[in-house]
Amino acid sequence: MPKRIAIVEDEAELASLIDYNLSRQGYQVQILCGNRGTLKSLEQWKPDLILLDVMLPEMDGFELCRLIRQSAVLGRTPVLFLTARSDEVDRVLGLEIGGDDYMTKPFSPRELIARVKAHLRREDMDSEPVMLEIGPFRLDRNGRKVYVGERPLSLTSTEFNLLEFFLTHPGRAYSRDQLLEAVWGEQRFVTPRTVDVHVRRLREQIEEHPDAPRYLTTVRGYGYRFEDAV
Ligand code: CA
Repeated sequence: MPKRIAIVEDEAELASLIDYNLSRQGYQVQILCGNRGTLKSLEQWKPDLILLDVMLPEMDGFELCRLIRQSAVLGRTPVLFLTARSDEVDRVLGLEIGGDDYMTKPFSPRELIARVKAHLRREDMDSEPVMLEIGPFRLDRNGRKVYVGERPLSLTSTEFNLLEFFLTHPGRAYSRDQLLEAVWGEQRFVTPRTVDVHVRRLREQIEEHPDAPRYLTTVRGYGYRFEDAV
């Protein structure tokens, strides 16, 4: 089912530009102009993510965000603020308001889409089962720990994310670029070489013979594959 994204924005031109770009990515979009009925509309439509303008005609976005956070239906929905002024940023991310992220206008559609994807991905992970058992691997998402048999691995956060990706996507070859996109998201300053470094570290932890891996194999001229562990 396509993910739903609500745009709460009174500038029609900006709203339809965002709508166009998100719809092209396959999202289902609804534009709300940000008046007193907006909270109710949001509660009825139950979007997966809310883009929220700060300067709205009848109430400000901060006030609306507070109400969203108090709502039983919407309470945990990610809210990404669209702000016109960078000095609003501290308030957006403050505990009192409870926004998850912000974009300062003007922003590029590409950047917006990247942020939206990152937040939706995080939501998906939260809703997946906490314990995952695949072959000898046991992955505890809450504790962010992985065991091989009874042996706990000592992984960095990135290594955990990478191993989690491999364990949940076995048997398929991924290029370095695909792995970067899936695991590192839109972080900057990472190169395909980064993937190699992390794969090597993972092998040292999970493989009996890191130079002749049983699980995390190299697909020559392409990337890596996690062999079915079951
Ligand atoms: Ca506005």
